[in-house]
Amino acid sequence: MIEQLGLGDRLEWREPVTATLHDGRPYQLDSPASLLRFSPLPLVDRLRMGAALAALKAMPNPRLLVGETAAAWTRRWMGERAYEVVWEPLLRGKFGDAAPEIAMPWFWARVHDRTQSLGYVRGGFQQLYDRMADEVRAAGGETRFGTSVTSVRTDGAGLLVETDQGSERFDRVISTFAPRLTARLVPELPDEWRARHEWGRAYGAHCVVLALDRPLTSTYWLNVNDPGFPFMALVEHTNYMPAADYGGRHLVYLGNYRPMDDTLMTAPLDAILDEFLPHLERLNIAFDRSWLTDAWVFAAPFSQPIVSVDYRDHIPPFHTPVAGLWVASMFQVYPHDRGQNYSIALADRLVDRVTGRTLAR
Ligand SMILES: Cc1cc2nc3c(=O)[nH]c(=O)nc-3n(C[C@H](O)[C@H](O)[C@H](O)COP(=O)(O)OP(=O)(O)OC[C@H]3O[C@@H](n4cnc5c(N)ncnc54)[C@H](O)[C@@H]3O)c2cc1C
Repeated sequence: MIEQLGLGDRLEWREPVTATLHDGRPYQLDSPASLLRFSPLPLVDRLRMGAALAALKAMPNPRLLVGETAAAWTRRWMGERAYEVVWEPLLRGKFGDAAPEIAMPWFWARVHDRTQSLGYVRGGFQQLYDRMADEVRAAGGETRFGTSVTSVRTDGAGLLVETDQGSERFDRVISTFAPRLTARLVPELPDEWRARHEWGRAYGAHCVVLALDRPLTSTYWLNVNDPGFPFMALVEHTNYMPAADYGGRHLVYLGNYRPMDDTLMTAPLDAILDEFLPHLERLNIAFDRSWLTDAWVFAAPFSQPIVSVDYRDHIPPFHTPVAGLWVASMFQVYPHDRGQNYSIALADRLVDRVTGRTLAR
């Protein structure tokens, strides 16, 4: 799709370094070779973990893993120590108290789908979305930003969409919101649908972006497995793409997943910086607040569904019981983790269904 939209020459594939912070030291941990060198684990555990990861890579689908938790599976096949040092901190960072409930098929997808190679549209993904909006307009469609949908209900033969800018009638509506939000906006969704799909929990994503006048670390993605840090991942984007692309600024993301009512989700930027910045000295002793030239904070609700073992039974089908109303969101890409590539593949399947294209093939 990036190529179709004329951005293929800006798509770059690189292999940036992913590391794990353990006992105050970053260890590269993103390949079989780096796993063999990962000294916090005894050699026998490294070999065991490598064999289990290879088995997951080779497994074509997660059928045999249904009903299992990632915590129990990794403990059994990779060993208690591998779980404690590598997987438990990662699962806790992403899912908090729900870490022991996370489904093994989701873990399989994380291992199976991924390689070290990471693609990026040089200059930023905004370009992709701008081009998509251009295509929509060229095809006679419209994009309306800054418009809040307040309700959707059946109205004669169609659906009436009410927004804070007025209401409009459509033949079909596709909601790309989290199922809970769709349920809130569509009072007609029957109790049966609600009981099954207005279900489960999701965390919000919180991301502080720092612009520094010099590099902070030498890794791209650092999983913060040590306790006591107020963020779970430190991503130095300019160890992946050149700082020159950003006017010489070195960009660092400090990421967290938190319950949506967590105080961090609404905390002011100054207070967050006061709490977060002193921890950067633990990663680079020379760090000084004067390196900071700018900072931003973003908090997005419903970003990380809690993919527990029974999650799969609650995924909504594309079509809802309300005539003409379809749903397609990040909550339906399970067992895959949320990602733009999965949403594009999901949209392709949805369009086939909505337009009946599958039947014609
Ligand atoms: C920390 C983090 C890192 C990630 N890294 C990557 C990565 O490297 N690569 C990758 O491919 N993906 C990545 N992802 C995933 C990717 O960002 C998401 O999959 C994608 O943004 C999901 O798109 P979406 O449209 O489903 O939801 P969102 O991007 O959340 O969009 C939902 C939109 O709906 C709007 N909205 C809500 N209520 C209403 C309403 N009532 N009326 C109108 N609008 C409303 C919201 O304002 C929002 O703009 C990452 C996600 C996170 C959290």
